[in-house]
Amino acid sequence: MNLRATATSANTTAKGPGRRHVLKAAGATAVASALAAAGAGPARAEAAPWDVIVIGAGYAGGTAARELTARGLSTLVLEARDRIGGRVWTSEFAGEPVELGGGWFGPGQQLVERELKRYSIGTTLDVSPTLAVMPGADGYVSRSPAEVFGRLGSLFDEFYAGSAQYFERPLEPLYRADLLRGVDHLSLADRIAQLDLSPVDHKWVAGSTAPFAGGNEVGALTGLAQWYQLAGGTYEGFHSTMSLKPDGGMTALLHAILADSKATLRLNSQVTSVSTAPGGWTNVRLGNGRTYRSRAVVVATPVNTWRTINFDPGLPKVHADAAREGVGVPHATKLWLHVRGSAEAVYAQSAEDGPLQLMLPQQELPDGRLYVAFSGPTLNVSDRAAVQAAVRQFIPRATLAGYRAMEWTKDRYALGGWGLRRPGQLLRQLPAIQQPHGNIVFAGSDIASGWYGAFVEGAIESGLKAAQQAASLTT
Ligand SMILES: Cc1cc2nc3c(=O)[nH]c(=O)nc-3n(C[C@H](O)[C@H](O)[C@H](O)COP(=O)(O)OP(=O)(O)OC[C@H]3O[C@@H](n4cnc5c(N)ncnc54)[C@H](O)[C@@H]3O)c2cc1C
Repeated sequence: MNLRATATSANTTAKGPGRRHVLKAAGATAVASALAAAGAGPARAEAAPWDVIVIGAGYAGGTAARELTARGLSTLVLEARDRIGGRVWTSEFAGEPVELGGGWFGPGQQLVERELKRYSIGTTLDVSPTLAVMPGADGYVSRSPAEVFGRLGSLFDEFYAGSAQYFERPLEPLYRADLLRGVDHLSLADRIAQLDLSPVDHKWVAGSTAPFAGGNEVGALTGLAQWYQLAGGTYEGFHSTMSLKPDGGMTALLHAILADSKATLRLNSQVTSVSTAPGGWTNVRLGNGRTYRSRAVVVATPVNTWRTINFDPGLPKVHADAAREGVGVPHATKLWLHVRGSAEAVYAQSAEDGPLQLMLPQQELPDGRLYVAFSGPTLNVSDRAAVQAAVRQFIPRATLAGYRAMEWTKDRYALGGWGLRRPGQLLRQLPAIQQPHGNIVFAGSDIASGWYGAFVEGAIESGLKAAQQAASLTT
């Protein structure tokens, strides 16, 4: 979401191209991806041993694969789904390209910016709201966005007080481990309870943090505070992390990265086991029984899915703990809504127990407007009447022309949403979780140091590091 810009249409671009160009770019990258899927590298027998096998074709796996082949290492990417992207999924709804997973990036995310520049992909500025709807003492109140974001800014200055010190260098989160010891055990709910909030302020704060955490008891204060400091330590900066979109959609950049690699990509290839074999080899077995062999393996799947792969020998304790506790948030349902009945571009949020916790205006259509929303656990997104009723809490005259929901927690290859560390995980698990285990290297936004969890930036950071680690294991 864009708090500052004056653009009112998602088709207004920072660097030029409009929707037609966007769709064309998506087509071009699909072709590029088909090339990558066919294996753009020199022909080689698949059964022959590989230097490296990368498990998972999300941003972390795709980045690692490109870097490994750039070093001349033969690389096989095994992806369980019939598409690349993982928790990024550019799809379609109401005839428009939409993001069912990660969709935005923000200024200062230097790795994403570098990749966009490398592949000459432009960016689009997101829609600015014209009206904000927030919980009141009783029901909802409408205010100007400036008034609401100003008030939220003051509340979050207080909420994150001290974080500039304990995240003095937010890209190196453990730099002030001494100070983190006093806060890393706190959940978001614990922090909210420390503040002397009025009932309405409580609804605003708890309702703001809950959708990012999948529940305020689940997410760590330090989990969100690190993002806040990465974004400059202001509420406006925090929301600017959701202000830009790559032209062609979030998947377009990954298509470009994979097309640029010489890796062989195999879709529909779910890995079920990774086991050490004699002679320094590792065997990687698929659900269909097919087995591949390599010198090193990069496990670039979400932490929450590690428990679905049989590792022999078993995972180190820190990895097993993270897989059991989870890093991907336990409730992550993103909806695209086609709403009629309001000329405004409405920003809306509920209290933490609301059915729709956050609703953000997207592109205007000839007959209404698209919105992105994140639901709470109380909303059954299969119940159309319930979804419409939830929208009407924010916009009473609204009619729901249609919607599409993606429930990431039910997705077998994600088993959760974006990552947000649980209380205590930062100090207990970093940096051990980033270390190789024998010939196995781990990658993914969930275990990144900087923009971890909810950011493609972190997946790229982790993919770059994993490629270095895996390359050193092949020598
Ligand atoms: C709803 C939602 C909204 C988000 N919003 C944003 C946003 O606006 N901006 C942003 O930057 N980030 C956002 N994120 C976070 C971002 O999508 C992730 O951080 C990033 O995509 C993670 O990349 P990854 O490569 O680490 O993991 P993934 O994208 O999850 O990739 C892992 C891959 O491994 C595959 N896999 C899993 N198990 C197996 C197996 N056994 N065998 C083979 N393959 C397997 C999966 O299918 C997947 O393709 C959002 C995430 C969600 C869910």
